[in-house]
Amino acid sequence: MTSFIQIGSTYVGKALIDLLAGNSQINHIQASILFILLIMLVFGVGNQVIQKLSEYCTGIHNSIFTNYMERIFMERALQADLQFFDSPEFYDKFQNARMNSQAAVNVVWNIINAVSAAVTFVTTFILVSNTNLLFGIILVLAVVPSTIAERKYTKILYRWDLNHVKEQRQMSYISSVASDRAHAQDIRLFHISDILRSRYIKIWEIYFKNRKSLLKKRTLISLAFTVLPEICTIVMLAFIALSVVAGERTIGDFTLYQGLLAQLSSAVFLMVTYAISIYDNKLRIENIQDFLKIKNTIHNNGRKELKTVDSIEFRNVSFTYPGTDKKVLNGLSFHICNHEKLAIVGINGAGKTTLIKLILRFYDPDEGEILINGNSIQTYTLESLHRCFSSFFQNAANYAFTLRENITLSDPDQKSDDVKIKKALEFGGASDLLESLGQGLNTSLTRAFEDDGVELSGGQYQKIALARTFYRDSCVILLDEPSSALDPEAEYHLFKKLEKLCENKMTIFTSHRLSNIFMADKIVLIENGQALEYGTHEELMHKNGRYAQLYRYQADKFIHSEKLKA
Ligand code: ADP
Repeated sequence: MTSFIQIGSTYVGKALIDLLAGNSQINHIQASILFILLIMLVFGVGNQVIQKLSEYCTGIHNSIFTNYMERIFMERALQADLQFFDSPEFYDKFQNARMNSQAAVNVVWNIINAVSAAVTFVTTFILVSNTNLLFGIILVLAVVPSTIAERKYTKILYRWDLNHVKEQRQMSYISSVASDRAHAQDIRLFHISDILRSRYIKIWEIYFKNRKSLLKKRTLISLAFTVLPEICTIVMLAFIALSVVAGERTIGDFTLYQGLLAQLSSAVFLMVTYAISIYDNKLRIENIQDFLKIKNTIHNNGRKELKTVDSIEFRNVSFTYPGTDKKVLNGLSFHICNHEKLAIVGINGAGKTTLIKLILRFYDPDEGEILINGNSIQTYTLESLHRCFSSFFQNAANYAFTLRENITLSDPDQKSDDVKIKKALEFGGASDLLESLGQGLNTSLTRAFEDDGVELSGGQYQKIALARTFYRDSCVILLDEPSSALDPEAEYHLFKKLEKLCENKMTIFTSHRLSNIFMADKIVLIENGQALEYGTHEELMHKNGRYAQLYRYQADKFIHSEKLKA
């Protein structure tokens, strides 16, 4: 529409100049001038209205589409296998897709603009060619070299961006560390700010230097080629000026062709620019598709619904984390039955947490089998498998939501019941904490969004994460170092309560403090990826092997410190 308004304005301008120059045969000159000015006003206002409408539509479309893309990315991240969060390649692709999401928004407008430029081009080409076909053809050909150069550099820049995502991620990481609460204390105490700053600047300088030189080359080359259409336009105008001087054309004709030629070369230029942008958008959208195409490796092909867990068996299970070559588990076998409590012990890095992750199918073993109720774990649907477990991980994160939400998140299907929530908090050892909070269960955890939110200690956050685990209605409880951040008193009470809470539930837990093992029916000691020892505490102490040795280390330490105190 704007194309037609612009062309129309050029013709109206010609008519006005002819009237003013006295080249017109019309009788009522003043009325005609007024009429033309009125048309100009209509065109001007029309143009403004269309532009404002288009700005409004672009703005609305941008917001909706950006939000839509963000939700797609969020969904992909939510559904991604846990292993992807260990993979730099996944993060690179994620960042790439995020960075390029604007391309998916822009492509629609680039197509609309390209069509509009094409309409202007066709119309002005016909109008110019009416006078001289050669004019139109030469002007179009003059734009070709810059098109080729632009396309080439668009591709080079795109590839360059693709290969430098790592640097961009590193810079974003450093700036997120600078504003992250978890790092704020270290940064201040150790004066890490200089290191962060110089690291950021170092990456940026190399990144920017290379990108700048590419941009410079592109600008210089496209600048050189854009001179060509300008020269052609001036030569054509010179021909028309000569015919005006010779009396073959009017001054109005000159302004008309000046306008048409400017519109034609700008239409060709815009058409090329938008076509290149569409090409660039296409490359970037492929990037988004690449990211969305990443397939999960944990297949949810099982058809059986797991209702209750009567037994879990590890049969010669071996496992290596994807992208690494160290076998964390190497032929591990053990068995646990309904209502039993199994303690998994071993030195740091033995593979205790890994074992729990395998039970939850966050990863699948490379060799061997995990059986639940005698069937391979993979024969059950993932949803029903997860439904049967409630788990606590030592690095459990809390959420910047209310305390109530932080607890009920683990079982959103349950009708929110304050009595149950308070019971879970009591099991987690957080009853005192609840009483101290002014707004009780409605208190916001962290002050990230609410001024009256609360910041808690590591131990207090752990108690809330524990309460979340206990709130979930499940038949098996998995606890990975549930007392790692608790004080000795809280730890003692937790294990005492666990005895009661887990009375009729299968429970698997890890604990670095062997004194907590008292609640376990069976103990499995993992070393070198295998179940080195398996049995009750008494059996293993009697065996006087590795478990007895580890147990004595801790007991000796305790007796030694008692002696020192005495
Ligand atoms: P534990 O719980 O017994 O302390 P983990 O099961 O956490 O030990 O870890 C066992 C080994 O696996 C360690 O050597 C650790 O470095 C490695 N590991 C743990 N998580 C990952 C991971 N996501 N990617 C690669 N290696 C891992």
